[in-house]
Amino acid sequence: MAVDLHLHSTCSDGTDAPERIVELAVDAGLSAIALTDHDNLDGIARARAAAESADIELVSGTELSVEWRGSPMHLLVYFLEPGDGPLQNRLAAIQDSRATRNRRMVERLRDLDIDITFEEVEAEAGGTGIGRPHMAQVLIEKGVVPDFASAFDRYLAAGRPGYIQRDRLDAIEAIDLAAASGATTSIAHPHTLGVAADDYDRAFAGLADAGLGGIEAWYGEYEPQVREHLAAVAASLGLVATGGSDYHGRYKPELRIGSGRGDLVVPDAALAGLRARVG
Ligand code: AMP
Ligand code: FE
Ligand code: FE
Ligand code: ZN
Repeated sequence: MAVDLHLHSTCSDGTDAPERIVELAVDAGLSAIALTDHDNLDGIARARAAAESADIELVSGTELSVEWRGSPMHLLVYFLEPGDGPLQNRLAAIQDSRATRNRRMVERLRDLDIDITFEEVEAEAGGTGIGRPHMAQVLIEKGVVPDFASAFDRYLAAGRPGYIQRDRLDAIEAIDLAAASGATTSIAHPHTLGVAADDYDRAFAGLADAGLGGIEAWYGEYEPQVREHLAAVAASLGLVATGGSDYHGRYKPELRIGSGRGDLVVPDAALAGLRARVG
């Protein structure tokens, strides 16, 4: 059966509640999902409660923004349970840094004479895990920009006038902390890292040696041959080929839970492989 190991809810920059994510996953016929909201585990308890009454497995996860070779990398973390632990305790500091960054970014936008308040961004987010997509949505609703892409291109992307970087864990430190917390990791959407396709094995060898668990190969926005290539790279490094849709609800309306753009299938071997890494 198929799984989906990369999903966002209203606890970060998705627009469906954790319970609704579970419902959509059941409708899609999946046997298991991982909820991977950015930098927090806030939706896990709700998703798990929904999963228990729906007969689908819910894996606790998060998607961390880490630093790798001086640039941002998204690192998926699996089997990280809410509560205390080395990485869990660091998440609190990461969330503080995000909160401060968010407020400073809104100040910057206001300094650019844009009519936007932090309260509006907070209302758009409707809870925890506030981030740039919520700012983008407010800018669209106010008619400042026509769409998401222009919001990032003009104001919110790295290097644009509204952007402020937040503190990030180093990739290897995050891999170590995850392992010390009983969890394992996978590099999210590797095409965003500026590594040439024929260079992935060399580029990721150091992280594999450091204890990385997998590479996201079965990704909703990849062509089939890219997925196969990344799965081969993962195998050659002794890593698990993981995958998911990166569903964000209305923020990425072209993606569906389980099937991505329509043709995605993430084999349940991906989850079995990750489970084997946490013993
Ligand atoms: P944040 O976690 O607040 O730094 O926001 C990062 C999120 O913004 C990513 O996970 C994406 O969902 C979204 N994002 C980042 N860059 C872009 C972009 N250029 N276009 C659209 N969405 C983006
Ligand atoms: Fe996101
Ligand atoms: Fe991501
Ligand atoms: Zn994601």
